[in-house]
Amino acid sequence: MKADSYNLNWDVCGQKRATRFLQSAIQNKMLSHAYLFYGSQGVGKYTLAKEFAKTIMCVATSGEKPCGKCFSCKQMNHGSHLDFFIIERMADEKKGKLKKEIVIDQIRDLKSRLQQGTLLNSYKVAIIPEAQYLNGSSFSGMLKILEEPAPKNIIILITDDISRMPRTIISRCQTIKFGSVASSEIEEYLIGKNFNQEESKLLSKIACGRPGKALGLAYNHDRREKYFSGINLFFEILRVNLHSRFNLINNFMDFESGDAGDKSRAGSLLEDWQSIVRDIILFQNNSEELISNFQNISQIEQAGSVISPSKLENFLYGIDQAKRYLGLNINHKLIIENLIIRL
Ligand SMILES: [Zn+2]
Repeated sequence: MKADSYNLNWDVCGQKRATRFLQSAIQNKMLSHAYLFYGSQGVGKYTLAKEFAKTIMCVATSGEKPCGKCFSCKQMNHGSHLDFFIIERMADEKKGKLKKEIVIDQIRDLKSRLQQGTLLNSYKVAIIPEAQYLNGSSFSGMLKILEEPAPKNIIILITDDISRMPRTIISRCQTIKFGSVASSEIEEYLIGKNFNQEESKLLSKIACGRPGKALGLAYNHDRREKYFSGINLFFEILRVNLHSRFNLINNFMDFESGDAGDKSRAGSLLEDWQSIVRDIILFQNNSEELISNFQNISQIEQAGSVISPSKLENFLYGIDQAKRYLGLNINHKLIIENLIIRL
C-alpha cells in the first residue's frame, strides 16, 4: 500500500497534512515517543490526537484500525481506557474554578502510571491538551519523562501558545503545526454531519478556520445564542456612552455571579469581537467577500462608515492584549472594561 493511499477514515475536519503524517508514521512503524501539536484553538489538534491514540491503541490484529470493536476501542469510546491519560488542570473546589496550573503531583502520578506494565504489552498514550499550563516544576517532571522514554509510551502535548513552551521540551518532541482550515472544508464537513447547506455555510464562515468553533455552534444552541448576542452587544456598545457600556457588559457577563465559566466566556467574547472587528476592517478595504459575519452585514457597513481605521486597529490590538492578560489570570472584569474604553 502506498503511503498516500493509506486512509484510516479518521473523523477530522481538514488538517490533511498532519493526518497524512501521523497515519504514515503508524503505517511505517515510525512512531515518536513524544509529539507537540500546536496551533490556534479549535483547529482540530485534540480531535486528531484522540483519533491517533485510538488507532495506535487498537489491538485488532487484522482489518482496519481503529476497529471500534476490540476492548481497547470500546474502552476508548466509553472514555474509560486504563492506559489512556488526559492530564488537565484540576478543579479548585474552594474557588469553584480551574486551578491556574497543571501541578507536579499530576506529572509524578502520570510517570508512575506509565511505568506500570500493560496486559497485552499494548501502547499507553497520554494527552496534555493545554500543555502551556504546566508550571516550572511540572515542566521539569515532564522533561524527565521525555528524556527517559519507555517503549510503547506516547506523550502528546498540545498547545495554542507555543511561546510558553520551554525549548528543552520542544526539542524532545516531534512538532506538528496545525493551521486554520478552509471554510469550504468546514462547510463540507458540516454537510457530511447532516446540517443543511445554509446553516453549514453560515457556521463555516463564522468559524474563521476553526472547525471546533463551527461544531460547537452547530451542536450547542446555548453557545450559538451567546455568539449572536455577543456580536449584537458589540454593536450596541458602539451606540452608547461609557457608563451604559459598563452596564451592558456587566449584564452580559454577569460578573457578580462568580460563575466558573466566566473566564472562558470572556475569552470567547474576545474571539467573537475580534472576528467582527476584522470584518469591519475588511469592509473598509473593499474585501467584503472575506467577511465572516455576513449575517450582520448592514451593521458592519454602518460601523465601517463611522469608525476610523486607526481606532479599529487600536481596538484589535487591545483585544490581543486582553487575551494575553486573560491567560495570565488577571481579573477578567477589569480586562473587558479596559478594553471597551478604547472603542
Ligand atoms: Zn480496536
